Amino acid sequence: MTHSTIEHVGIVGAGTMGNGIAQACAVSGLRVTMMDVSPAALDKGLATVDKSLARLVSKDKLTDAQREAALACIGTTGELGGLTGCDLVIEAATENEPLKVKILQDLHALLPEHTPIASNTSSISITQLAACVGERAERFIGMHFFNPVPMMALVEIIRGLQTSDATHDAVHALATRLGKTSITVRNAPGFVVNRILVPMINEAFFVLAEGLASAEDIDAGMKLGCNHPIGPLALADMIGLDVCLAVMEVYVAQYNDGKYRPCPLLKEMVAAGYLGRKTGRGVYRY
Ligand code: NAD
Repeated sequence: MTHSTIEHVGIVGAGTMGNGIAQACAVSGLRVTMMDVSPAALDKGLATVDKSLARLVSKDKLTDAQREAALACIGTTGELGGLTGCDLVIEAATENEPLKVKILQDLHALLPEHTPIASNTSSISITQLAACVGERAERFIGMHFFNPVPMMALVEIIRGLQTSDATHDAVHALATRLGKTSITVRNAPGFVVNRILVPMINEAFFVLAEGLASAEDIDAGMKLGCNHPIGPLALADMIGLDVCLAVMEVYVAQYNDGKYRPCPLLKEMVAAGYLGRKTGRGVYRY
């Protein structure tokens, strides 16, 4: 059984990632049905795509006709049942394990047997989520997009223990069609990118706490010395210090290895509510 021709993508969740994935699919000429339990989130998701496409037109990266064609590709629904005609469903709902398990079980009950399901989760085990969809487990996979989806070139494809080669090949072909480069990763906490990135950010907090250099100099060092587009502390402010800490805590719990010890300064700042840009103050003030 193959499912290599994906022409209609269902997306669960119309938030930051869901509407970005919808846009990337629609610009590539795929039909999209975006589902959300919140009508307001669907409206906001569509408005975000509309604005983002208009920006691309103003930068001459898209023609007006292409923008209209892309918008015409996106439909919405408030019910998972509205996704039964899709060739693939990508789950991009809120990062909450019981919530995702319920969505996946409901999708499994509704979708035709052959339809693969992908999850955009950042931190939940793909093998464990696959185990929630019964005999569909081999047609379950992680498809980890990066934010903002229309700009970021990478998709991490995460194979659960159960994932079949056909499922892997189908989503790999889809990522290529979206103009993305994909890397294939075996399931493990943090996958590849966040496994390396977040401990690096944590280490930057240790360096700051030890007074080795100022925040500005730590960031300048990593930008100019390693060619990173942004320093690790400024990046922590963008991601959210609470999110960085939560990721380190997952590594501590799952790998049981002291090398993932969260920096006490990071914990202290989270306790103070200095979470980064979203609270107006993190390592820097906004
Ligand atoms: P978000 O909060 O912006 O959007 C989540 C959406 O899910 C909301 O619109 C919400 O109404 C909807 N939702 C909640 N329950 C639902 C249900 N039962 N059925 C359908 N929709 C439901 O979140 P986000 O940042 O887009 O994250 C979505 C997923 O993507 C998470 O798993 C997250 O870990 C992952 N992710 C996020 C980023 C990022 O930078 N934001 C990057 C990579 C992966």
